[in-house]
Amino acid sequence: MLPFARVTIIGLGLIGSSLARAIRAEMPTVAITGHDARADVCARVVHLGLCDDVTDTAGAAVIDADLVILCVPVGAMGEVAAGIRDDLPADAIVSDVGSSKASVFAALAEHLPGRRIVPAHPVAGTEYSGPDAGFATLFKGRWCILTPPADADSADVTRLSAFWERLGAQIEIMDARHHDLVLAVTSHLPHLIAYTIVGTASDLEAVTESEVIKYSAGGFRDFTRIAASDPTMWRDVFLANKDAVLEMLQRFTEDLTALQRAIRWGDGDTLFDRFARTRAVRRSIIEQGQDDERPDFGRSHA
Ligand code: NAP
Repeated sequence: MLPFARVTIIGLGLIGSSLARAIRAEMPTVAITGHDARADVCARVVHLGLCDDVTDTAGAAVIDADLVILCVPVGAMGEVAAGIRDDLPADAIVSDVGSSKASVFAALAEHLPGRRIVPAHPVAGTEYSGPDAGFATLFKGRWCILTPPADADSADVTRLSAFWERLGAQIEIMDARHHDLVLAVTSHLPHLIAYTIVGTASDLEAVTESEVIKYSAGGFRDFTRIAASDPTMWRDVFLANKDAVLEMLQRFTEDLTALQRAIRWGDGDTLFDRFARTRAVRRSIIEQGQDDERPDFGRSHA
């Protein structure tokens, strides 16, 4: 039996359109309704046939939904929640895919008091945006972290878990604050570092832009993929997960200073030990199937 019969997706970009494609592929009888603030995105989704219905307003999209998933930037979650409040069926479950969880839950709870809210974060994505960037297999083999509030109905959590499992995801259930700390180090900090390095290189006056690009295979190239990620999404993530990011940034800065000192004093042992340890982390990630040797999991986006 399907966990939900009528799913509404608000925000039809990379994640929302991937969700629609994955539902079509794995649960073809589910009715999908979509809405996006951008008329061009709505028109594109109609053209691609990703939803059964695309509405002009968020409210109209949720009228007969049994699951509503907000796939907008985290800074827009509260506004969307306010926009669906009056039309949301009493028994509908509201979820989201936001990359930070504590502040998103606070925004949803503020605008949807007493409603059935079960936040989620599929830890899957690419540096691309918009409905053409989505693909049906995005969530396969990836983790989807659910961060239900303490008073959530366990049956709702079970239904949402079953939904994501049907799309190929593995489920982890976590406290929202712990999620934000873990993701600050595994996702948010790496993005901040990539944005910084790519920005620093492009600001250097003594090195021309053509040299930066020509010799990028030396390591820089790998940072540029992450630094090409959507600016709106990432601005919102850093503002929404401020405390955890600042805490991890403090730790990172101290570790960087230690390496700086090792380089200055010619302390090769410290450098070698650190690099040997981090090489083992890379091997573990591949062993656990969270990456393979090919770029972008070897996916073709044709
Ligand atoms: P995206 O491709 O930019 O799509 C988001 C869509 O939502 C855009 O079309 C956007 O329009 C629209 N939107 C913005 N405000 C809206 C509103 N108030 N009402 C309706 N639609 C609105 O972004 P995405 O990568 O799919 O990210 C969506 C969410 O997924 C974010 O919360 C992000 O944190 C989370 N997430 C992303 C990734 C990733 O790797 N990209 C991974 C996991 C989770 P505009 O372009 O006008 O803003």
